[in-house]
Amino acid sequence: MPHRLETESRKLLGRLREALAADSEGQARLDAVVDLIADSMGTAVCSIYLFRDAETLELCATKGLQAEAVHQTRMRLGEGLVGRTAKSRTVINTADAPSSKGFRYMPETGEERFSSFCGVPIQRLGDVLGVLVVQSKDAREYTPDEVYALEIVAMVIAEMTELGAFVGEGAALSARHQQPVMLRGSIAQEGASEGVVYLHEPRVVVTNPISDDPEKERIRLVEAITQLRSGIDDMLLGARTVDKDQAQVLETYRMFANSSSWLRRMEADVGNGLSAEAAVEKEQSLARARLSKSKDAYLRERLSDLDDLSNRLLRILTGQGADAQSDMPENAILVARNIGPGELLEYGKKLKGIVLEDGSVGSHATIVARAWAIPLIINAKGVTREALNGDPILVDGDQGIAHLRPDETVHAAFRDKIAMYTRAQERYASIRNLPATTKCGTTVSLQMNAGLIADLPSLAGSGAEGVGLFRTELQFLIRNQMPRRAELSALYSRVLKAADGKRVAFRTLDIGSDKVLPYMKPNDEPNPAMGWRAIRVGLDKPGVLRMQLQALLRAANGEPLDVMFPFITQIGEFRAARAEMEKAIARETKLGHPLPNVLKVGAMLETPSLAFAPDAFFEEVDFISIGGNDLKQFFFAADRENERVRKRYDTLDISFLSFLEKVVQRCAAFGTPLSFCGEDAGRPVEALCFAALGLHTLSMRPASIGPVKHLLRRVDLTDVKAVMDEAIANGEQSVRRAVADWLVYQV
Ligand code: PEP
Ligand code: MG
Repeated sequence: MPHRLETESRKLLGRLREALAADSEGQARLDAVVDLIADSMGTAVCSIYLFRDAETLELCATKGLQAEAVHQTRMRLGEGLVGRTAKSRTVINTADAPSSKGFRYMPETGEERFSSFCGVPIQRLGDVLGVLVVQSKDAREYTPDEVYALEIVAMVIAEMTELGAFVGEGAALSARHQQPVMLRGSIAQEGASEGVVYLHEPRVVVTNPISDDPEKERIRLVEAITQLRSGIDDMLLGARTVDKDQAQVLETYRMFANSSSWLRRMEADVGNGLSAEAAVEKEQSLARARLSKSKDAYLRERLSDLDDLSNRLLRILTGQGADAQSDMPENAILVARNIGPGELLEYGKKLKGIVLEDGSVGSHATIVARAWAIPLIINAKGVTREALNGDPILVDGDQGIAHLRPDETVHAAFRDKIAMYTRAQERYASIRNLPATTKCGTTVSLQMNAGLIADLPSLAGSGAEGVGLFRTELQFLIRNQMPRRAELSALYSRVLKAADGKRVAFRTLDIGSDKVLPYMKPNDEPNPAMGWRAIRVGLDKPGVLRMQLQALLRAANGEPLDVMFPFITQIGEFRAARAEMEKAIARETKLGHPLPNVLKVGAMLETPSLAFAPDAFFEEVDFISIGGNDLKQFFFAADRENERVRKRYDTLDISFLSFLEKVVQRCAAFGTPLSFCGEDAGRPVEALCFAALGLHTLSMRPASIGPVKHLLRRVDLTDVKAVMDEAIANGEQSVRRAVADWLVYQV
């Protein structure tokens, strides 16, 4: 960077600081900024465009274009050279704007008189807030040094925009992060809650983007980098002794932290008048822009390492977010891009709600949130950009909507909803210890799904008769190494103890599909849901299955034990899995360990094929549990993780129901106990129809037991069956409408 320009851009930043510090309205500040940039750079035009909403840019200040165009001229993201600059997040620098791709003539601005154009995105941490533009009459490209100076200025404008420096009366600009926002996502766990935003990764607020003492800032930067490096060295020292893989990751990380070019670039930014924090953010923004475009997995990984390091560095420099967990508010609603089950477990049940920018219904974090009945919304696009720590937020898990900074009307309506919800909970609590006996005298056994020790207290709280599905893979997923047999057996015995004599159906490890163990070699399959998963892995590589079966036998310690195998598709698989159990029994016997006094070995019916297995299967298996989540996806050929197709097919579709009825009949013919443990069992209308078909054991999330029991106790299943049969006779595709209409007059 030539010395002359260093001083030039420093001078420019010095003037900018004065303009920003002046005690004036937002619009006046913005006007002063464009004036002085045009003046300093000797260009005819300088304009600032800011986003009005996610898709629209608005001319907010200009020197050189017609003043009437301010707050009138708007363009969509991607439209014109300005829109293209914002969309591509890169500088567009051209000597001949009118003949450039995408040029849009805007008569109100008088723009056609200008030949050269340079647009620089105003971005903060990869989030584009607007575009800074300079234009001149002569046909010339701006020099790299001039572009660099503009980038520095754009960086400062971004910070000041974020801080609300350009907001005010007459400015026609509303502050970001002050308006109410409604975010629509997908439902992952129902329920309503009210609280304040608690960001998983809090945004660092930089209040001093410009410095007047570059040397002081350089020293701050170097000191922070030194602290960062020594922190990583300490982590590495710890990791080397316990975890080789983690150490390897940290080595790469350290390499980045020690990168001299990274430091050099930031030192140059500081030399040009940015504060140390602003310099870190400037480099971070550039890295994020590259990250969003790169398709190369390796490069993406490295860029996200750099992103993470920048965050750490910012936290060191600002002292913000150093102790995130301890200042978690009481009514925290967690807002994050995504979260792993381990991290969620660390936050614990204290959370009142969760809103994720990404996430999926079948993810482990979702399973954990469901087990805890914490309202959860996923796919809420924009939430991490819009939300600030401490913002009021309402989570409507039933509709998949989050209201950020809600106004009073929304708030009042929501409070009514919470009150209704609380009344319903009280109603369910009053029938907690009563059986789910219908008016026709059928008692349906309602059990709960679990996967963590922390779920077990719900057994008493929900009134469940037992655990119909214990997903053992959660214990494997939340660790960073394979658990040992002794650990597992201690854990299973704690589960059995907590169940206090109630039944627990342990399902052996169901990995593969979306459940990938962090410490196992990933298996690159084109379609993992139909790939090498669950019992297929267990039988091909039986080491873990054997270890798990032995741990289970030991945990039972002479008491009853129920074990089921996931994803059994044919009798042969069941026999092979059962043979593993026989071997485990033989080993335990040889070691002189006590065996369960009653052992039941079951299979999960999750693929249509098993319903057509030979009679012998139904005779040999001790019980069958229908895994409706998987069964439904294979029955309708509709991916359970794909929100678009998942909802197309109704569980109460008569084809699916008649299939279930066939399974009920085959089990009845052989006296094989049958249950249903997919998510649908917890939906009251579905539960009712299943019970009417003869499915008298249903396992669901603990929070669903109350509503399901409440409904079952109020109906006669023969009536329900008659309504279903009539809908079928009428040629309906689904019985849902008929049953729902009928229910209106019953309950
Ligand atoms: C199912 O598929 O319905 C089931 C209970 O198993 P999981 O959701 O864990 O695949
Ligand atoms: Mg399944």
